[in-house]
Amino acid sequence: MNRKSFIKGLALGTISFPVLLRLLAGKNFAQTKPSSQVISGKQYEWKLVTTWPPNFPVFGDTCKVFAEAVEAMSGGRIHIRVFGGGELVPALEAFDAVRNGAAEIAHGAAYYWAGKSPAAQFFATVPFGMNAQQATAWINSGGGLQLWEELYAQFGLIPMLGGNTGVQMGGWFNREINSLNDLKGLKMRIPGLGGDVLAKAGGSPVLLAGGEIYTSLERGVIDATEWVGPYHDTLMGFQEIAKYYYAPGWHEPGTTLEFIFNKEQFESLPPDLQEILRAASAYAHLWCFTEMETRNNQAMHTLIEKKIDIRQFPEEVIAALRDLTQGVIGEMAASDPFTQKVYTSYDAFRKRANRLSRITEQVFYNSIQAPM
Ligand code: CA
Repeated sequence: MNRKSFIKGLALGTISFPVLLRLLAGKNFAQTKPSSQVISGKQYEWKLVTTWPPNFPVFGDTCKVFAEAVEAMSGGRIHIRVFGGGELVPALEAFDAVRNGAAEIAHGAAYYWAGKSPAAQFFATVPFGMNAQQATAWINSGGGLQLWEELYAQFGLIPMLGGNTGVQMGGWFNREINSLNDLKGLKMRIPGLGGDVLAKAGGSPVLLAGGEIYTSLERGVIDATEWVGPYHDTLMGFQEIAKYYYAPGWHEPGTTLEFIFNKEQFESLPPDLQEILRAASAYAHLWCFTEMETRNNQAMHTLIEKKIDIRQFPEEVIAALRDLTQGVIGEMAASDPFTQKVYTSYDAFRKRANRLSRITEQVFYNSIQAPM
């Protein structure tokens, strides 16, 4: 479809909602072929398992938004039932549940599958990696999706975008961080690569389930914790028990969420239903990201009004963490050829994206001088 017929199609209303969404999601015009197939009336009852607790705000809602969009666009031909973590299978078994056919779809974040391949982490987030806008661009039109599909095909799965958290916060601290020395012995709940980097800086990353964090911080079992951003953090109540709220979330600069499909089941669907699932994923991705922005800016406003002590990590600390990150990620990438291939693509895009944003977004943010 060329640009002229696309605009004409929009004006005449002959471009369907799914096609429009797919185009908005950056899919190549030439990839979208009109289907001449007769629409089958077959009904599908599918299950979607998540890595989040049942009814988890925003992330769980993203699954409901996705299921409702699929149901509406397919005229009820696909009905998707959403299960929170533990309701059908344990949260962190979602990947294998889709692999072995216990569910057709999962929603989560690819860094949970680092044990399957370290490369998976680049499709969620890595310390000092890309923000939501940059990561979405890399996946949609910078070659990321092809690599992600190649990785998940090894497991009989298909990945699609399923949301983004935006830049997270650095976390809640009961210890001031004024120098690198203050990280020594710091007991912090921080999972994944961020935890590995903290350990290299002399800290002690602690693994805790969501439900254990509040009391551990309150009782001094840990000195600090990260979670998500102002909205989710406020729901956890950390502002009641922590002295300082530090920025930025250097360890999670924009975590991409994902839908995972059983490849065989997906490919057995008629082409129009496959398109609907792709379109609904693009829709849910955008819904989640904008919902996070809206709820986070409301929650941050409230925290500022309540005079919460919001701070920035000193440049010395950020510079050291950034250097240590290079070593940790470089080492991880060198451990396996496919991970190295993904890292090469990710890092090249990240560097170009940052060259652009330093001259556009960063200069713009500096120019607005919004009061705290
Ligand atoms: Ca986090």
